[in-house]
Amino acid sequence: MNNKLMMAITIVILIAVVLFGVVSQRQEENEKHNLEEYENTAMMLDTVNTIRTYGPGGEEAVQQTFSRLEEIEALLDLYDAESSLNRINENAGGEAVEIEPELLAVLEMAKEFAAENEGSFDPTIGALTLLWGWGSEEGPSVPAQEDIEQALELVDYNKLEISGDEQTARLAEEGMILDLGAIAKGYAGDEAVEVLLENGIERAFVNLGGNIVLLGTKPDETPWRIGIQNPRSDRGRAMGSVDIGEEDLIAGQIAVATSGDYERYFEDNDTRYHHIIDPETGYPAEGGAVSTTVVSENPSRIDALSTGLFVLGLERGLELAESLEGVEAVFITEEKDVYLTSGMDDKFQLMDDDFTVVN
Ligand code: ADP
Ligand code: MG
Repeated sequence: MNNKLMMAITIVILIAVVLFGVVSQRQEENEKHNLEEYENTAMMLDTVNTIRTYGPGGEEAVQQTFSRLEEIEALLDLYDAESSLNRINENAGGEAVEIEPELLAVLEMAKEFAAENEGSFDPTIGALTLLWGWGSEEGPSVPAQEDIEQALELVDYNKLEISGDEQTARLAEEGMILDLGAIAKGYAGDEAVEVLLENGIERAFVNLGGNIVLLGTKPDETPWRIGIQNPRSDRGRAMGSVDIGEEDLIAGQIAVATSGDYERYFEDNDTRYHHIIDPETGYPAEGGAVSTTVVSENPSRIDALSTGLFVLGLERGLELAESLEGVEAVFITEEKDVYLTSGMDDKFQLMDDDFTVVN
């Protein structure tokens, strides 16, 4: 073979190799972008739950996830007389109650988060929640001052006794009531992602009543854009968004939770009474924030944190959020001022110029 022919053949082969590479890369990208999408919504845990998956097997995975959420509801729901949680509540001040390992783990977590939040998130808030009439048939109303003072005596997470050896839990005083409403959806989000992963799902959007968990990146590789609701728009409009790109994921996932005074409230004599109670006063928290959004890895933790930071309020809350590694937060005030933790700057996008980013 002469040299020219050799050269020509080599060039043809090289071109073929490069072309093949380009085509197969394209194919890979196309497959990624055209991942089969599946979405379903179900009412559970007293809220609306939506799960969207990308990739094959979504329908089956989402079905299994909803079944798992039902189990969690049966374990943790304060408003279900038969729930395991209520067995502990019924025996408050009496015998320790044997409980499922799962409930034990959630209670341990709740105590840990109560400490992290300096008691502003307190899983023994139930006496106050029920006194205010949340979840009751008659609906909520303002209680008498002396009743609030009595109920305050029954709120203290240090009086929740958990024994890992005995697999039991006990509330130390009669009348104490566990309410996991501020962490149940976060925990459920955590478990939802577990079930999705077990089913081979690698990318998903999980929204359990505003508690969001993002698994993997979006198939088109654009950032996930999570809207933050305008706390004073009754149409639920977004005033801004938190954008989550691949670099923001921690161990392949990230969670976003918001607590706000607009979620559940009633008005009496022109005063707004919302459902997030300050364990120090017994009244709806008035720390200067009307909405707190938290972004971090662990869905249970940030559910508790969004409530806790709301109670702590603008100053103390911002300070705590700033001190926690890997935790970022957005606080919104009545005056439509927006406060961000330092790592939130590049994630938060303002979309409504009625609002002002202050720091
Ligand atoms: P939402 O359930 O509206 O998303 P949260 O996650 O902030 O909001 O949870 C609020 C619920 O948590 C209330 O409905 C009540 O059951 C309970 N709760 C209220 N105040 C506290 C508190 N200080 N600590 C723990 N739980 C609370
Ligand atoms: Mg919460």
